[in-house]
Amino acid sequence: MLSSNMSKGQERSQTIPSIAVHGLTGCAGELLVILENLEQLIPYVRVASFPFAQSSNEEDRPVDIAFVEGSVSQPHDLERLLKIRAQARWLVAVGNCAVWGCVQKGGCRNQSTVSLLHETYGEDSPIECLPATPLQDHVRVDVKLSGCPINATQLLAVTASLLRDHLPYITSKPVCLECKLRENACVLIEQNLPCLGPVTAGGCGALCPTYGAACYGCWGPCEQPQMEAMATILEEKGYDMQEVMSRLFAFGAPDELFERVKKNLTAKS
Ligand code: SF4
Ligand code: SF4
Repeated sequence: MLSSNMSKGQERSQTIPSIAVHGLTGCAGELLVILENLEQLIPYVRVASFPFAQSSNEEDRPVDIAFVEGSVSQPHDLERLLKIRAQARWLVAVGNCAVWGCVQKGGCRNQSTVSLLHETYGEDSPIECLPATPLQDHVRVDVKLSGCPINATQLLAVTASLLRDHLPYITSKPVCLECKLRENACVLIEQNLPCLGPVTAGGCGALCPTYGAACYGCWGPCEQPQMEAMATILEEKGYDMQEVMSRLFAFGAPDELFERVKKNLTAKS
């Protein structure tokens, strides 16, 4: 029972669920999406910490939901992530960087992080880097909300589920499914564009094909992606599989996905 002399503000802050929004190494795109939609969350949550958006933050108190953007690419990212995990009931990885490692991971695929750092900031740079990795490589992640940036409707639906103590269902069926539901003409079949919708996780509502462009895989791989079938179709249409793979790698797709495709390419050459 709440004490009778507690002010309305104190009462609310003790009963309403709390959220924290953190950014590790990333472009802050997800933080912006959360900020833009915060008005819809405010009636239901208390924002305990959001350093990107407010100057007064509770850094050392437990929260109900922690949203974390960005990959672990620097030692202080890892320190923060471990602390965030220890204080959060639910941890939601938001955006492709947090879920797959995105361009930080893709960019370092063929080059060591240190050589990239020296090339960019000079040999005397005091910055320390780690190989870029997604959150799940270091801590338990309760919900993975991919996207570059995330879809606002998915963000609100995930938050609503967690506030009701349910882990949400996030689809990782291919973009093609959403594309068909929108009754789009297929740009792969009808325009011979190198659309990666068949191997990319849905969630964006097939945004690019809806406007006549090929999906380039920014949501990360879908559930059980049929890479060999994708490779066969694209090769039949005259596309270089190395180029196609580099697009998917750029958004952090793991190497293991391409093992069989790579073996086939080596066997043919
Ligand atoms: S346009 Fe792309 S996403 Fe849409 S159905 Fe064709 S291959 Fe799939
Ligand atoms: S269609 Fe593909 S590239 Fe475009 S937003 Fe969706 S997942 Fe990203």
